[in-house]
Amino acid sequence: MTAQIIDGKAFAASVREKVAGHVTRLKEENGITPGLAVVLVGEDPASQVYVRSKGKQTVEVGMNSFEHKLDADTSEADLLALVEQLNNDPEVHGILVQLPLPKHLNEDLVINSIAPEKDVDGFHISNVGLLGTGQKSMVPCTPLGSLMMLRDHHGSLSGLDAVVIGRSNIVGKPMAQLLLGDSCTVTIAHSRTKDLADVVRRADIVVAAVGRPEMVPGDWIKPGATVIDVGINRIERDGKNVLVGDVDFASAKDVAGAITPVPGGVGPMTIACLLANTVTACCRANGLSEPEGLTA
Ligand code: NAD
Repeated sequence: MTAQIIDGKAFAASVREKVAGHVTRLKEENGITPGLAVVLVGEDPASQVYVRSKGKQTVEVGMNSFEHKLDADTSEADLLALVEQLNNDPEVHGILVQLPLPKHLNEDLVINSIAPEKDVDGFHISNVGLLGTGQKSMVPCTPLGSLMMLRDHHGSLSGLDAVVIGRSNIVGKPMAQLLLGDSCTVTIAHSRTKDLADVVRRADIVVAAVGRPEMVPGDWIKPGATVIDVGINRIERDGKNVLVGDVDFASAKDVAGAITPVPGGVGPMTIACLLANTVTACCRANGLSEPEGLTA
């Protein structure tokens, strides 16, 4: 069997197109332009690339982008004051504080100071609780993008066996909650899981979010299963610097029914879902009906 390759780049483009359509309608029918504020503290090179990309795509779909770049030695009080200002700004519908923050800043404190309804990363403790209890929330972008691709491929996920490898707060745990919300039977595997191969072999859906290059070989995959590879790992291969996932794509694609590649799978969906969350937040803030197909 050769797996269907799930094209995350094309899927993300279709999500951005939907977002752009909603933005046009919000402008024309309601006179509202959704706005996303991104806060970057310090000069972490990877974070700078992400923030630039987020700003560019925000503008491309017709939304306002507000970038706030603060020095690495910014005090917690100054950062909290900026978040407070953005919480109170009616032009700002989504707020994202780029992580990681410099060591002297308390990430939990900062994230939990964002107004939950503007928390487009979905990391605020209120949104975590709402998602965990099956209520309307802001959903973390990478798991939301993964869920969209799974729903698109399967239609209904009800009754399927899903394993999520990794239990981080930003990917593994919310992914498991979303799959549970769609009535999968969910197993969360992690670094202490005994016989991971056996756990993975039972799954109709495998979501790998570990950060270990190609750790899941094809012979762990149940024939026909759907594999969502969240991992992004930079390795040397044949003298070249390449990106690979947590799944060994070469062997897994011969067994799986469908698989996301790395790069070009889950990665592009993350920013697309950030834009989707911002439009959703804008609609909710203005008492308007939410865009269909862009939320969990
Ligand atoms: P993390 O380091 O916070 O969590 C990794 C998890 O993997 C932990 O819960 C740990 O228990 C588990 N783990 C570690 N070793 C294991 C093992 N041997 N067997 C089973 N489980 C093991 O990482 P994260 O932030 O969740 O990110 C995971 C991966 O996803 C990374 O490669 C990251 O770069 C990538 N990522 C991609 C996107 C995207 O946009 N595509 C977004 C976020 C993260």
